[in-house]
Amino acid sequence: MNLTASRGPDGRVFRRERSSSRRDTRPPRPLLKPLDDSSKRQFNRSKSRCRGPFLVFLLSLALPAHAEWVRRVTDGIMGTRITVELWSEDKTKADQAIDAVLDEMRHIDESMSTYKPTSEVSLVNANAAAGPMHITKELFDLLTTAKEYSVLTDGAFDITYASVGYMYDFRKHIRPDEAHIDEALPAVNYRHLLLDPKKQTVQFSQKGVRIDLGGIAKGYSVDRGIDVLKARGFTRAYVSAGGDSRIIGDRFGKPWMVGIRDPRKPPGEVITRVPLVDAAISTSGDYERFFEENGVRYHHIIDPRTGHSASKVRSATIIGPYAIRTDGLSKTAFVLGPEEAMKIYNRIDDIDAIIVELDGTVIYSKGLEQAH
Ligand code: ADP
Ligand code: MG
Repeated sequence: MNLTASRGPDGRVFRRERSSSRRDTRPPRPLLKPLDDSSKRQFNRSKSRCRGPFLVFLLSLALPAHAEWVRRVTDGIMGTRITVELWSEDKTKADQAIDAVLDEMRHIDESMSTYKPTSEVSLVNANAAAGPMHITKELFDLLTTAKEYSVLTDGAFDITYASVGYMYDFRKHIRPDEAHIDEALPAVNYRHLLLDPKKQTVQFSQKGVRIDLGGIAKGYSVDRGIDVLKARGFTRAYVSAGGDSRIIGDRFGKPWMVGIRDPRKPPGEVITRVPLVDAAISTSGDYERFFEENGVRYHHIIDPRTGHSASKVRSATIIGPYAIRTDGLSKTAFVLGPEEAMKIYNRIDDIDAIIVELDGTVIYSKGLEQAH
């Protein structure tokens, strides 16, 4: 386990990203510079002589330019809630940076959403069975990564799940019947996705194949958001899109504390809080988008082998260096079950996992065992 851990005030702190770039290790600028004895004496002497307005003038010189945590919550991009929080000494620059993060996420939504008929992914779904289709570098790289995760997870993560998945509508409580699932199931297989890196093309090897990046796009957008902030010089920030989050830096000597929701309790009730610095964290839960029928819970993670909801755990949380990776791996436990998934998670160097099993038992990957 390639884990750099140090103790924080709340226990062990998990740092996954070894940032090579300039990391800001300066302490926060104090609101008022601490006074040494000679300045205290100076201050006391002048206090006896000065009147209020001069003191206010002196104080304003000592204050930094409004260094503060700036936080914005936005609903509706990628059908989810986006939160950006950062430490900034300039509110205008902070607001501009957050605007840029949201613009980047809107761009990702425009090109990746299967709900938008004009998105690049929708065009791929409409045309890629007919022959090789040239796509943007961004989408090509994402499809390449998605295929790598399919290999890594023994096929549990598979963006061609959508060949069956498109027939579900969890909001409207619609699900396909067995006949329709059987008919569509042969098209679910990541091997049907033919990628040519030289020509930067994608092709489906047979008709009926569809892809959906819902299991990876939010994590990717969080990483892109962090890239945007880093490029603008921010060194302490939190970006999240739904259940996918990433953190850079700490909170001045303290870690960020990220709560993991209790799957069967109202939002806000957590099973544990994880202290994180320079790390990503993703949670998938069977409580996110679901409906129940005759005591069966139908929810938005699909087993590529059966075309049914994958229901072997209640939730899975992955901690790692990048949100695209933690997002891509959080579905695996639902499909393979806790034991098989934990074997995979323990095999991957910079990943840790917290799984809530069907009976509510919480299990931890090796790297977290001593920590909880
Ligand atoms: P969120 O969308 O809130 O981030 P998850 O990270 O748990 O939730 O991802 C769930 C989404 O992943 C589904 O809505 C669907 O788009 C996609 N998905 C479902 N099953 C699979 C699968 N077996 N492999 C890859 N992606 C999947
Ligand atoms: Mg996700």
